[in-house]
Amino acid sequence: MTDARDSDAIAHNVQSVLHSIRRAADRVGRRSDTIRLIAVTKSVSVSGIRHAIAAGVRLFGENRLQEAIPKIASFGPEAGLSWHFIGRLQRRKVRSVVGAFAMIHSVDSLELAAEVNRRAEEAGACQEILLEVNIGGESSKAGFSLPAVVDALPVLDSMSHLSVKGLMAVPPPTREAESARPYFRRLSELARSLSHANLRRVRMDELSMGMSNDYEVAVEEGATFVRVGSAIFGPRAL
Ligand SMILES: *Cc1c(COP(=O)(O)O)cnc(C)c1O
Repeated sequence: MTDARDSDAIAHNVQSVLHSIRRAADRVGRRSDTIRLIAVTKSVSVSGIRHAIAAGVRLFGENRLQEAIPKIASFGPEAGLSWHFIGRLQRRKVRSVVGAFAMIHSVDSLELAAEVNRRAEEAGACQEILLEVNIGGESSKAGFSLPAVVDALPVLDSMSHLSVKGLMAVPPPTREAESARPYFRRLSELARSLSHANLRRVRMDELSMGMSNDYEVAVEEGATFVRVGSAIFGPRAL
């Protein structure tokens, strides 16, 4: 948990991450305003979040619903914050997530997508989502396999209360950031190939990839959202 002492450190870290994003974008000739920083606040206190807001952050990511709901509630609409859900989502929790989060990055099956669509319809909303892809083919990890995501698109396109914006992935853990590059590239290429599918509503504009240790490589490979926690808030107690 963070406290007031961390205010300067958090402000410094936010600037340093934004600077690294700009440099990475420059290296590959991308406009840095096409890349959004999501400050990941799992295990970060409300005061830590306030420090990030003071440093200019408005977009936050949470992956634990129980922890997120009271945090979100402690900021009114005047704060102008946007919350993205990035963690494993159980079907029975979908109802609480729809509406509270502007975007869900972790839709990892058609069954879950159908539930999000159903709950969004009940709420009279249209929920923005990303499809989580198991880009490393890890048996321990959630996400659509590459062939499954191709097959899912026409079905997703018919879900009228979903707005599919693109893809998300968490590559297998690697020691070197550079080792994540092939996975980021594969996700980029997948999104590019899927964007040619002739669909009415599904879009492939957003790529959510890159965390504290590899977000610069992710930016070089086309990320539009990077999800950064510990590089902003410091190491998490587990
Ligand atoms: C925790 C988490 C992050 C942020 O991780 P850091 O290494 O602290 O930057 C990003 N994405 C997901 C899905 C996470 O669970």
